Amino acid sequence: MNQLHPTRIRAITLDLDDTLWPVWPAIERAEAALQDWLCQHAPQTAARFDLDGMRAMRAAVAADHPALTHDLSALRRESIRRMLDAAGEAPSLAEPAFNAFFDARQRVDLYEDALPALQRLARRWPLLALSNGNADIARIGLSPWFQGSLAARDIGVGKPDARIFQTACERLDCRPDEVLHVGDDLALDVHGALGAGLQAAWICRTAPSTSTAPPPCWQGADLASLVVALGA
Ligand SMILES: [Mg+2]
Repeated sequence: MNQLHPTRIRAITLDLDDTLWPVWPAIERAEAALQDWLCQHAPQTAARFDLDGMRAMRAAVAADHPALTHDLSALRRESIRRMLDAAGEAPSLAEPAFNAFFDARQRVDLYEDALPALQRLARRWPLLALSNGNADIARIGLSPWFQGSLAARDIGVGKPDARIFQTACERLDCRPDEVLHVGDDLALDVHGALGAGLQAAWICRTAPSTSTAPPPCWQGADLASLVVALGA
């Protein structure tokens, strides 16, 4: 299904995690870096919280503070602080411990087609990163291809809320129908974007289940096919 209107596109917003790189390897590396840091600097916390314990604490903090689900860095900091507190170690260690996590979180392995696609798209349109997560395009080294980035924590709501898409359009100085949003998540990216009046491109690197009704948008297996579809 191709419902792209390339001649009408004046700017592109791009999801990051699982669109430009697989997110789970980066999260697992970051969790391992946090565990290593705690082993060295907060051994009681490391002994008390294994990987499952760390994840359970993060889930508990998210349940207690729903607003933090839009600021994953704040959520992670608070869950580290609570682990330190529970183990009787200094809560002030939370910041350097978080930094160990965050540094590793930014070490991502781009999908093979991601950088060539960014280069092609950026030649023709302004690109804005639009993420609910805490990846940092500057630290990842992708700033040269983006005009900027907008994250859920910046405005207090995440995709699929229309407000984050509207804010993106304002920042790009475009009408919603002049902006194409590209992402991997059917609910957050595709339905979110379409609901806010944007065009949408759904990147399905794994085939969607046959029970999933195809949304009224362009759908393709990777960013390379999107570049072709856009004639970029
Ligand atoms: Mg994603």
